[in-house]
Amino acid sequence: MKLVIATSNKGKLAEMLPILEAAGMEGIPQGRFEFPDAEETGHTFVENALLKARNACRQTGLPALADDSGLIIDALGGAPGLISAHYAGVHGDADGNIAKVLAEMAALPHPVRTARFYCCIVLLAHAEDPQPVIAEGVWHGEILDAPLGENGFGYDPIFWDPQLQQSAAQVPAELKNRISHRGRALAALQAKLANHA
Ligand code: IMP
Repeated sequence: MKLVIATSNKGKLAEMLPILEAAGMEGIPQGRFEFPDAEETGHTFVENALLKARNACRQTGLPALADDSGLIIDALGGAPGLISAHYAGVHGDADGNIAKVLAEMAALPHPVRTARFYCCIVLLAHAEDPQPVIAEGVWHGEILDAPLGENGFGYDPIFWDPQLQQSAAQVPAELKNRISHRGRALAALQAKLANHA
């Protein structure tokens, strides 16, 4: 079975393609087609992932896989949440986003700095598919007082994993791919695909 992967992120594609292949599916990156991105008007990650997948199904006539992810900080009422990519105003401004989070959390002590990364991956067989495959992954941690580490992207330098005693930007990429919200969602997807009829 061929399906479109509704992302142009090379890192995500590299993680997703082998898992689909193991499930007997050939993933085709959205970039091979030319169509406009879906408007992410949902109120939850799962809604936005479904919007992206449905858009890709409509535009290509193929099944589609899409994901949506972000950082959820308890003390900020779940922010940056759905707007993680542009929390400080400009899409992909990781430094600005980090600075905004650190400023908002400046006075908060260690026990109330809990946070999690969340990822939702959905697979639609066609645009009107009433039975999407939905897989989730969560990575629990805390928000640091200052950035630490050089790897990764986005909020990684301020996300502390208390079990590993490293920031997400200190964790080697291969390990991050396994333990992160996206890694866990992909593992859940792999298990679900094995049982999906
Ligand atoms: P998207 O799902 O690619 O749209 O990700 C939304 C935003 O969430 C990204 O732009 C990052 O700001 C943040 N984010 C998602 N996953 C990660 C991660 O693994 N590390 C750091 N930031 C992330």
